[in-house]
Amino acid sequence: MVYPDSWKGFQIEDPSKWTEFHLNELTPKPFGDYDVDIKILACGVCASDLHTVSGGWGEQKFPLCVGHEIVGKAVRIGSKVTLIKEGERVGVGAQSYSCLECRQCKADNETYCKHQLDTYGAVWPETGIVSQGGYSEYVRTHEHWVFPIPDGLATNKAAPMLCAGLTAYSPLVRNGAGPGKKVGIVGLGGIGHFGLLFAKALGAETYVISRSHSKEADAKAMGADGFIATQDKDWNLPHEMTFDLIVNTASSSDGFDLAKYLSLLDVHGKWISVGLPEGDGQEVKTQTFMANGCLIGASHLGSRKEVLSMLKLAADKGIESWVEEIEISKDGLATALTRLHKNDVRYRFTLTGYDKCFSS
Ligand SMILES: [Zn+2]
Ligand SMILES: [Zn+2]
Repeated sequence: MVYPDSWKGFQIEDPSKWTEFHLNELTPKPFGDYDVDIKILACGVCASDLHTVSGGWGEQKFPLCVGHEIVGKAVRIGSKVTLIKEGERVGVGAQSYSCLECRQCKADNETYCKHQLDTYGAVWPETGIVSQGGYSEYVRTHEHWVFPIPDGLATNKAAPMLCAGLTAYSPLVRNGAGPGKKVGIVGLGGIGHFGLLFAKALGAETYVISRSHSKEADAKAMGADGFIATQDKDWNLPHEMTFDLIVNTASSSDGFDLAKYLSLLDVHGKWISVGLPEGDGQEVKTQTFMANGCLIGASHLGSRKEVLSMLKLAADKGIESWVEEIEISKDGLATALTRLHKNDVRYRFTLTGYDKCFSS
């Protein structure tokens, strides 16, 4: 019962009751030579958490503790750990394991490793133990997936960067967002607001593309050079064939006319999706790509190197995530997920108050 053999965390036991959190004892995988135990200080609430506990992404391994935007203090260091020091403030994102030996891992593409394991809901191969996330006291993670947080970043603002921030940052840097480029960000939510902040920090001319005008003032306050609302008639025409890159962060594909979005791209411009809507998605035809020879793709999280460069950029440029803090508790978690379900958040929840919650 005593740390470090087990610790407490909030789990969902049944997807039909996805706001009913149970404070249970969690058993982590055995402590390895490369592992770091982290006492959690804060955790962002990702849309993945909601899709997972509510069953929108299909069957999961319940009971399950979600949360993968973790910031905490490294309190125990494995004997072979070299990347992290005891006592350091560190972060953990959505991925917690990769083999570090395959072709992808050796090319800084470890987020695409075939052996990758998620921070929650994955089964550790030798033990059968299901990984549990950051709505808990502690997390145990391989050092490669633990990242020092620069002093300049506040804990509650750094947390959401570890999944949402990285998900936006990696496709921007991999696809050349920078001075002289015109970048579009579809959807101003948790990921999208980071897309805007980071694309601007990288020097790109950045537009937000949203359904209505309701977030226009916020987008401008975050530095957007322009705002396009798809409810407006012929919204795409003034911008046809002008964008170099569009990152699609939308979490719903209802009524989404992909062809109109693709018409915004310059020749061989790229459409990169990072949101994972529930349901079947959409049909695409070759004809849709012909007018501009555009390319369509996706992106998954980002490498360790990209996490470190993103955090450095955020600290150097004073980038501030827009977060609402909620204290972690059964009620706090129910509130956070219910409001996220209604898209009622500007623009990310960070769970705080861990010391208070877990001290008793
Ligand atoms: Zn996430
Ligand atoms: Zn690998």
